[in-house]
Amino acid sequence: MPNYVVGHKIPDSDSICSAIALSYLKTTLGEETVPARLGELSPETLFILDKFGFEQPELKMSYAGESLYIVDHSERTQGPDDIDDATILGIIDHHKLGDITTSTPLEIWVRPVGCTNTIIKMMYDFHNVEIPKNIAGAMMCAILSDTVVFKSPTCTTADIKCVEALAEIAGIADPKALGMEMFEVKSAVLGTPIRDLVLRDFKDFDMNGNLVGIGQLEVIDLAVFDDMKPELVADIAKLKAEGNRHSVLLLLTDIMKEGSEMLVISDNADLTEKAYGKPTVDGKVWLDGVLSRKKQVVPPLQESLS
Ligand code: MG
Ligand code: MG
Ligand code: MG
Repeated sequence: MPNYVVGHKIPDSDSICSAIALSYLKTTLGEETVPARLGELSPETLFILDKFGFEQPELKMSYAGESLYIVDHSERTQGPDDIDDATILGIIDHHKLGDITTSTPLEIWVRPVGCTNTIIKMMYDFHNVEIPKNIAGAMMCAILSDTVVFKSPTCTTADIKCVEALAEIAGIADPKALGMEMFEVKSAVLGTPIRDLVLRDFKDFDMNGNLVGIGQLEVIDLAVFDDMKPELVADIAKLKAEGNRHSVLLLLTDIMKEGSEMLVISDNADLTEKAYGKPTVDGKVWLDGVLSRKKQVVPPLQESLS
């Protein structure tokens, strides 16, 4: 029985490319390991897999009795539902430490860098394993995605150096141009069902007993949302009711203007006033300079709800 590597629910490019890259490393080190996913892939991730010639990892929701590595999170709400019945071999992540615990010893690589793939590159270097060209390309794209082509405040010099090294291995002359091409794919939202957009990059957090869902859509120009905003607001209100959530927030991030408009449905009318010092007006608020959910959105909110 092989071991698995799986990222978070509603997988993003980092979760998928991490699963592929870590599986190859572990298998090369003599531990048969396969990548898996906890949901359908986004157009951006499909673009990356297609570009570097990968199949989609196996869709696998249940892990009872199996052994697995968790990548790109360490939160119970974001992992497999039956995670308690699985053996966790390791966690490789770049988010705040979550609430996953284990009953057996495990390997942990957690670093405050912009992307899990930057940490996996460190693991390859540590074990002195050569990264295949196509895996290097996928890892590089995941870093460009998570760091918003180096614009995110989560981006570190380690991420930039890592992209340079991976681009060299993959034979990509202009990684930033490829990054922008990915964000163009991401910006093609017209014609997509509203619920699919809301859930495209959506995470639930347990904030002091309050379930808070936060979605994010990163685009090159927010004008693409102009006509669909009322529908987006109506849908996050539905999502809040369906999941019995305290709040649902949707970040519409403009990667060129480098800020986010937050659509807000919450039990607390003063939620954004308290967390970010800016009131919600007509269900929305502009947060200048805010690009990162994990670094700029979650911590103040968690603090204000404690
Ligand atoms: Mg992720
Ligand atoms: Mg990530
Ligand atoms: Mg992200």
